[in-house]
Amino acid sequence: TNLHIAIVAGSTSSEHDVSLTSATNIYRALKEITPNLYPLYLDKTNQWMLLDATLEAPYQDISRAKPILLQKEDMRLDILSKKQQKIGQIDLFFPALHGKFGEDGAIQGYFELLGISYVGADVTASALAMDKEFTKIILADAGIPVLPHLVINKRDNEYPSFSDACKELSRDILFVKPARAGSSVGISKVQDQMQWEEALTLALLHDDKILIEPALAVREVEIGILDDGEQVHASIAGEIAYEKGFYDYEQKYSAESQVQLHIPALIHETILAEFQQLAIKAHQKLGIKGLSRVDFFLTKDSNEIFLNEINTLPGFTDKSMYPLLWQSMGLSQSHLLKKLIESSLKS
Ligand code: ADP
Ligand code: MG
Ligand code: MG
Repeated sequence: TNLHIAIVAGSTSSEHDVSLTSATNIYRALKEITPNLYPLYLDKTNQWMLLDATLEAPYQDISRAKPILLQKEDMRLDILSKKQQKIGQIDLFFPALHGKFGEDGAIQGYFELLGISYVGADVTASALAMDKEFTKIILADAGIPVLPHLVINKRDNEYPSFSDACKELSRDILFVKPARAGSSVGISKVQDQMQWEEALTLALLHDDKILIEPALAVREVEIGILDDGEQVHASIAGEIAYEKGFYDYEQKYSAESQVQLHIPALIHETILAEFQQLAIKAHQKLGIKGLSRVDFFLTKDSNEIFLNEINTLPGFTDKSMYPLLWQSMGLSQSHLLKKLIESSLKS
């Protein structure tokens, strides 16, 4: 194809750096599909920049990618094209963003206003999937198993004590998480009142709404969903295995991470089928388009299944489960991206 595609990465999100790593991969894979790529960058104050498209990997080192500041008006993308001395219009946006503004419907709303197609979930589905409370409410209503939770809002006059929260959730270890974040940012596992207070403070730095859940001993299994516009396909399952603690930011991204991805996950085929069926149902219930990664817990003691969360713009780093799952099913990254592009132009 010679589609003109603009990738967007960065932003004020706490997942800014992860986004750049995802974007580096997406850029490389899209280059195999079209020569007409526009590497757009939202800096840490959400200023729009256009990077040097002649580079192999513009997102790898932003300062070397000669960012040109764009005015809001430049987002009329015919002007963008001129700046790069290319003819033609942007046909499609590819948000390589994670978290706030990128995955929560904000940028999707902007694309809608510009009247330009984009890859992935629309405004409503993005906003719902980003919000761990609303996700659970909708999924529970559809009969999909989710963990019980409490919600604390920043403006509540009083926060429950650790022991009250434990009583309500019938568990003496809890997870505290921002309702709308990702990459485990702002998440803590809590065992006493002192950790509880620290955890609430930390989570409230990332969101005004936080979720409390019982901490279970779980295996973590993930399913990729690829929605080609006609059919919703579920991938095989992948498992994330680690020795200690939980799947936190360090384990997700640090070079010393001991985390292992098992693809395929070693689970019974009837459990796999159940995961796949629940993942497709959840994807559809939330009205997601294009892609999502549906993350499950499988309890270690009783093989009970809970859907933990759905990510509408899953990571595309080298260690990221979503592209690896499809790769193991024979879909290369550029093949996968091609399907996503086709599906977003269909809808
Ligand atoms: P994020 O969107 O940041 O990935 P998650 O809800 O997936 O947020 O939590 C991140 C990680 O924290 C999970 O992958 C898991 O390791 C751990 N975790 C979260 N909630 C629980 C829970 N209720 N019980 C056990 N582990 C949990
Ligand atoms: Mg998430
Ligand atoms: Mg997660």
